[in-house]
Amino acid sequence: MLKDEACIFCQIVDKKIQSQILFENDTILAFLDIFPISNGHTIVIPKNHYNNLEDIPVDELTDVFKIVKKISSKIYEKLKIDGYNILQNNFKAAGQVINHFHVHIIPRRREDGKFQLLIPREQSKEEELNKTLKTIIE
Ligand SMILES: [Zn+2]
Repeated sequence: MLKDEACIFCQIVDKKIQSQILFENDTILAFLDIFPISNGHTIVIPKNHYNNLEDIPVDELTDVFKIVKKISSKIYEKLKIDGYNILQNNFKAAGQVINHFHVHIIPRRREDGKFQLLIPREQSKEEELNKTLKTIIE
């Protein structure tokens, strides 16, 4: 198993740090976030230590998201919420705090006053989109 002794999530995997575990198998762990954005905020991680999406192998990523789907549905049903956000941050610039790949399941209620993705956006010109597209795919 890939491990970083200093990593807080690896310590949770090793049960050196206690957590409220919703799901566990040989390769995946899901537990309640200790600093929840909302009630039921859950973290799903591979037990192997990967820094972020760049590092995790596709087959393990697939396994993680199978569990994300399973747990999200369960939370939606059992906590009778109105919706949920799936959030996955990569690198400091995108708000990643713990450098062990993880997926947030954030339960939401109508008018809960939490974050909204209502960020100001401007329509891009077609030539600008084409230039960006060319840069990414070439
Ligand atoms: Zn780790």
